Amino acid sequence: MKITRIAVHQVTLPLAKPYSLSGGRLVFEELDSTVVRVETDDGLVGWGEGCPWGSTYLPAFGRGIRAGLEEIAPQLLGLDPRRLDVVNRVMDKALPGHPYVKSALDVACWDLLGKSTGLPVVDLLGGREESPVVLHSSVPTGDPEAMIASIEAYRQRGYRIHSCKVGGDDPGPDIERIRATTAALEPSESLTFDANRAWLPDTAIQVMTATEDCGGYVEQPCETYEECLTVRHRTSQAIILDETIQSFADLLRAQKDGACEAIGLKIGRVGGLSKARRLRDFCLATGIRMNIEETGGSVLADTGAVHLAAATPATHRRATWLCHNMLTVDLAEGGARNDGGVTHAPEAPGLGVEPRPEILGEPVAVYG
Ligand code: MG
Repeated sequence: MKITRIAVHQVTLPLAKPYSLSGGRLVFEELDSTVVRVETDDGLVGWGEGCPWGSTYLPAFGRGIRAGLEEIAPQLLGLDPRRLDVVNRVMDKALPGHPYVKSALDVACWDLLGKSTGLPVVDLLGGREESPVVLHSSVPTGDPEAMIASIEAYRQRGYRIHSCKVGGDDPGPDIERIRATTAALEPSESLTFDANRAWLPDTAIQVMTATEDCGGYVEQPCETYEECLTVRHRTSQAIILDETIQSFADLLRAQKDGACEAIGLKIGRVGGLSKARRLRDFCLATGIRMNIEETGGSVLADTGAVHLAAATPATHRRATWLCHNMLTVDLAEGGARNDGGVTHAPEAPGLGVEPRPEILGEPVAVYG
């Protein structure tokens, strides 16, 4: 089997409501997503998506993916997409670094491997676990009443784990948000307080010390790994590192330093399912819990992440976020959907999700 053609589509995905995180520092209204269609000489088609959640969330942006694909896509023509490690080595040679550019192509090759073998990607990644994949919500930064209302709306849809976005300049409002949302919890629920890099260490230490009794995980308190480590040494809450885990080397350092209890394992950010699987396996071997999910995108992107989550023991998962639930456009048929606060990897061969041509439109670039 050989790759004969790669088509690249740009899709704008509007959010149902403007979304604010990092204490209101970053606001998003729509997402710039890139979908790749990888065709082979035996007529199979594989799909992948790259969507970095705007241009301000990570050192990544939508036009960057499409520019990077200009360098990489021609190099994949003629390769067997089922030889995933070979494909990844060719991508890394064609363009060192830039993992987020490569993720959509890697995932599309997993889709093709599944379709060519008749197996869902979850079974190629180690096999489906019995327990469904538990979802977590994404509660935007706001005043405490708005955040509690958002938690209640997610609760109605079955969610029991809520990721509350905090991260103001002053400790006071964040302390209030954490206290108020904790007080509004039901017994079966738990909270993560995600600062999305916003706090300086002194703010993080003040907020976390003042809310120590609330429990809950604190996610990515500061911009850099070193700042997060300073906070780690001065506080007692469980820490999730998210934005700073971009590679296996980042994870290795965090484990060696005992810097976190959990990581956000975002498929796009680390370069696709092949590289995410390596991080997943290291976390399994060293007792680190994971939120396995995407950086953003439609149900196509989400479903790739759910296949890896569904192949990961529930003991080591915290929760998975489905970005597509926040959009007004549904890009594809099938895929992993919210089913009362949990989701399942599709059983069809490959990813089990097929984009709708009328939403994809014409390609913006074609290779081959
Ligand atoms: Mg996060």
